[in-house]
Amino acid sequence: RAKEGCREGYCFFEPALNQKVRHRLELENRLRTALQKEEFLVCYQPKIDLASLRTVGVEALVRWRRPGVGLISPGEFIPVAEETGLIIPLGRWVLRQACQQAQRWREQGRQLSVAVNLSPRQLLDPDLTRAVAEALEESGLPPEQLELEITENAVMPSLELALGRLAELAALGARLAMDDFGRGYSSLYHLHRLPIDILKVDQYFIKEMTPHSRVSSIVEAMVAMGRSMGLVVVAEGVENKRHLEMLAGMGCHQLQGFLFSRPLEPPRLEDYLAREEAASGPPWLGASRRQ
Ligand code: C2E
Ligand code: MG
Ligand code: MG
Ligand code: MG
Repeated sequence: RAKEGCREGYCFFEPALNQKVRHRLELENRLRTALQKEEFLVCYQPKIDLASLRTVGVEALVRWRRPGVGLISPGEFIPVAEETGLIIPLGRWVLRQACQQAQRWREQGRQLSVAVNLSPRQLLDPDLTRAVAEALEESGLPPEQLELEITENAVMPSLELALGRLAELAALGARLAMDDFGRGYSSLYHLHRLPIDILKVDQYFIKEMTPHSRVSSIVEAMVAMGRSMGLVVVAEGVENKRHLEMLAGMGCHQLQGFLFSRPLEPPRLEDYLAREEAASGPPWLGASRRQ
């Protein structure tokens, strides 16, 4: 019985650890089959331009629809996909889906940029640039409509390698975004070295922000820094109107968060955009104007 926990010459005799390892292996196998069976889906969350209060882009966020279980959030399976390398085929699938969907919307007359997340392992993949070029080509999406989001964790293992990869991606014409800014390490150093176009302020800071607080000073400084570097500054995790008002005062460019919408499947996102059009802004704005 104890032998069951043996892998590559290591044995786990401790029952709790054994169970953990088994659980992980199980999840890995389930992910592998899920990929073959196409059990994944991509949801899209609007990014709103602060000046016009209109949706100007979306972020593609993957989910796993597990039969008999329901929707599983990426936080639960992306780390395992990352560890096992399954993130490479999964990431490619998301990229292709996102480019095709954005192009479909363009053909319907909706000019939306689409942002796709890249994990550390994807960034190190030597085939990434070719995969991105292929996704653009086969969809027909103009490269400048594609944004690739990276975190500082992705560039940490090898900055030189990451710099090379990002230069290749930039040469394709895609835009590069620094995601979760402020939460990683040596942020300013990376901000200075990486060829990014967009700065996404981590949602932690937005959520913690109250007027005249230290956190709001930090957000204000991040927005000002991004602006003066010529970057498009996006606030993530915008949940209420007070956040919106504070960020407007700071000169933030774009907003993303539950105040506007959760990530939605394409037909629901189209419903959202239709309501936004009818209200000439976010749906709740129409309601408050009528009051
Ligand atoms: P992220 O790229 O920072 O994406 C933003 C996350 O914040 C999303 O969670 C979104 O649903 C959530 N969010 C947006 N607005 C709000 C808000 O107002 N309040 C709160 N509480 N949350 C908000 P989600 O979809 O669960 O994704 C979590 C993370 O998983 C993403 O963080 C990203 O790092 C990763 N991820 C998602 N899809 C992919 C993918 O296709 N590839 C890779 N490599 N990573 C992905
Ligand atoms: Mg992101
Ligand atoms: Mg983020
Ligand atoms: Mg993240």
